[in-house]
Amino acid sequence: MKNYFKTIKIDKNSRSRITEIYVRNKKIITPVFMPVATQASVKALSSQDIEEVGTQCMLSNTYHLYLRPGLEVLKKFGGLGNFMKTDKAILTDSGGFQVYSLSNLRKITEHGVHFSSHIDGSPHFFTPEKVIDYQSAINSDIWTHLDVCVKNPAEYEEAKDALKKTKNWAKKSIEHFKKITQDIQPKPKILAIIQGSVYKDLRKESLEWGYELGFDGFALGGLSVGETKQEMFETLDYITEIAPKDKPVYFMGLGDPIDIWTATKYGVDMYDCVLPTRNARNGQALTTYGKIYIKNACYKKDESVLDPECDCLTCKNYSRAYLSHLYKSGELLSHRLISIHNIRFLIRQTEIMRKAIEEDRFDDAFNEFLSKYNQTKLKI
Ligand SMILES: [Zn+2]
Repeated sequence: MKNYFKTIKIDKNSRSRITEIYVRNKKIITPVFMPVATQASVKALSSQDIEEVGTQCMLSNTYHLYLRPGLEVLKKFGGLGNFMKTDKAILTDSGGFQVYSLSNLRKITEHGVHFSSHIDGSPHFFTPEKVIDYQSAINSDIWTHLDVCVKNPAEYEEAKDALKKTKNWAKKSIEHFKKITQDIQPKPKILAIIQGSVYKDLRKESLEWGYELGFDGFALGGLSVGETKQEMFETLDYITEIAPKDKPVYFMGLGDPIDIWTATKYGVDMYDCVLPTRNARNGQALTTYGKIYIKNACYKKDESVLDPECDCLTCKNYSRAYLSHLYKSGELLSHRLISIHNIRFLIRQTEIMRKAIEEDRFDDAFNEFLSKYNQTKLKI
């Protein structure tokens, strides 16, 4: 059996690195960007579209899948991959963040979290063990555990208390995970969710128990949730400096291209975000030369493609003028074509990063990216 995690190359002048993750006969090469299939769908894209843009792994949400289509449906299909008709790796989040951000009624006890569905208000109760069982039904490749999220800026005591509960739940989760996966081959993996807001001692403690409890990697939670960019990167710099180097590091929910380049410089391996598809539905495209709003008058007769350096289906075939027309006419095809491009754009960035790391020129490549990306200021 191949090693689960292997570092292939570390850039000489930064912490950026290329690694390989093997999970259930699937290989993920990092840095990796994972599109988000919130409800068993990367919005507006088919599983074939997702494959064509170079996706290695995608993220789906336990909370959403539990509510719709429900776990009985997924069990019947043998899991989310079969249901969606994809053989790409799937990582599932634990629902902790969705309960925190979507549900207006939640009550946390030491045993779990009571919440009401954002769809119909029905009451539900997630426990650490149940969330592990749910991911077993989803049959994803990389699992996470239930955690307590706090909004930044959080008071120290509030962050400390949330971390204490998260640790308790992490313990229960990994025990249950080990029990129910002992006969499963090949086994899924499970990541520790690292919390602690912007407090270094709490983040350190979280990393320590995440490692000691035997988790397979670190998913950084509670970042990019209200703190300033400076606080976010200072915290990230600290975490990645002290994090054990024999496990992958995943920054949950990061999708801005400059942020992804920066976090990779610090040594982060994995990313996911809904922004590339959400922005696409608002007519915003990420390009090598900055973000553009396709509805702007200047694109009405523009025969050029969205991004001359992109190799996606959209950029190989369609003009900005056509995309602008589709968007302004409310044609759904614009959602699909711009989403394909935006996801491919972020995946292509990770490919550019990997090449730069191989050649020990990550900083130069980052500067080249910035000098082009900052050329066009966002035209609203
Ligand atoms: Zn493109």
